[in-house]
Amino acid sequence: MPMDLIPFNRPFLAGNEQEYLRQAVDSGRLSGDGSFTQRASALLESALGVKKVLLTTSCTHALDMSAMLLDLQPGDEVIVPAFTFVSTVNAFVLRGARPVFADIRPDTLNLDAEHLESLVTERTKAIYPVHYAGVGCSMEAILSAAKRHHLQVVEDNAHGLFASYHGQMLGTFGALAAQSFHETKNFTCGEGGALLINDPALVERAEIIREKGTNRSRFFRGQVDKYTWVDMGSSYLPSEMLAAFLLAQLEARNEIQRRRRVIWERYDTELAQWAENNGVRRPVIPAGVEQAYHMYYLLFPGLAERTAFIQYMKERGIMCVFHYLPLHLSPMGLGFGGKEGDCPVTEDISDRLVRLPFYTGMSAEEQGRVIGAVKKI
Ligand SMILES: *Cc1c(COP(=O)(O)O)cnc(C)c1O
Repeated sequence: MPMDLIPFNRPFLAGNEQEYLRQAVDSGRLSGDGSFTQRASALLESALGVKKVLLTTSCTHALDMSAMLLDLQPGDEVIVPAFTFVSTVNAFVLRGARPVFADIRPDTLNLDAEHLESLVTERTKAIYPVHYAGVGCSMEAILSAAKRHHLQVVEDNAHGLFASYHGQMLGTFGALAAQSFHETKNFTCGEGGALLINDPALVERAEIIREKGTNRSRFFRGQVDKYTWVDMGSSYLPSEMLAAFLLAQLEARNEIQRRRRVIWERYDTELAQWAENNGVRRPVIPAGVEQAYHMYYLLFPGLAERTAFIQYMKERGIMCVFHYLPLHLSPMGLGFGGKEGDCPVTEDISDRLVRLPFYTGMSAEEQGRVIGAVKKI
C-alpha cells in the first residue's frame, strides 16, 4: 500500500476564507484598502497594540518600505543576523546601505546582543533583529544598544505574530516591524505581509510610500482636496481578495495558535528522550518568552547526520527541510566582505538544523507517523 506523503507544509483553512472572498468579489471593490483591508488592519492594531498597521503585498515589501522610511542610503551600515532570510537584508541593500552581519546565540538562534556593540561604527544607522522561530530576541539589550548609539530598530517578525517577550508583543519594540502572510507562515493569504508602525512620526510617510509616492490616503480621508506625487514610493497594497482571505485567518487566531501549540508540544515531549540519546538538541525557549509556535527544529551533531536524516525521512514519504545558508558566505555576502569564521555559530548551526513537518492542520495520525519514523532511526 503506498503511503500518503507528509508534506513539510500544507496551508490551513480556518473556515470563513471562501465566504469572505465571495463577499469581497460581490462588493465590486477589488483593489486595496477597502473594508476587508480595514478590518484586517484594525484587528492587528488592537490585538497587538500597534499605532498603525498597513497591509502589504509581502513581508519583503514591508521590509523594503522600512528602509525607505528610515532613509537608509549608500554609506550607511545596518546590523543584521547572518542567519536569516534574504529579504531582511535586501531591504536596505536596495537603498545602497551595507549589511554588517552579526552572529547568533547558540540557544535561541537569535541575534547575539552581547557582541552587538563591537559591530557599531559611526556609520551604523539601524539594527534589524529577527525573532527566529517566533521566539523573542533579547530586546532589552538590543534596545539599550540602539538607544546608546542612536540607531533605529526594525523587527523582522515574519515568524513571531502574536508571540510576546517579557509580556510585550513582538512587533511592538522597534520603530517598525514586518509580518509575513506567506503560505508557510502561521497566518496566510498566499502571499502577503504587514508593516507595523510604532513610531507615530512615520505613519504619514509610510502611507505615501505604500501608495506610489502619492498622498492618496489623505485625499480619501478628505484631508487634502487633490492627490499628487509627493515622495518616492511604489505599490505595496494587497487586493481586497487577499485581505478578505487573511481576515478569516486572523479571526481564527486563537484556534490556529492553539492547534500549533499542541503540535509543537507533542514533538517536544515525545522526541525528548530520543534526542538526548542521539546527541540531538531541541529548541530552547527562555523563561519569560511566549513563543509563536511557528516551527519545530532539531539540531543534529553534524552535517553528515543531518543529510542522512533528511534522506531517511524522505524515503518514508516525510518531507523535512533545512534553511538559512549563512548570508555572509553567500555570493552577495562575500561581495560585502564576508569571510569564513566571521559568524561561527551561524556557520555551525546552518549545517546541523532540520525543520520537521509542521502545519496547522496536521493530524495526530500524521504527526504520529513522523515521530514514529524519527524514533526508529
Ligand atoms: C518568510 C520570511 C520573510 C519573507 O516573507 P515574504 O512574505 O515571503 O516576503 C522575511 N523574513 C523572514 C525571517 C521570513 O521567514
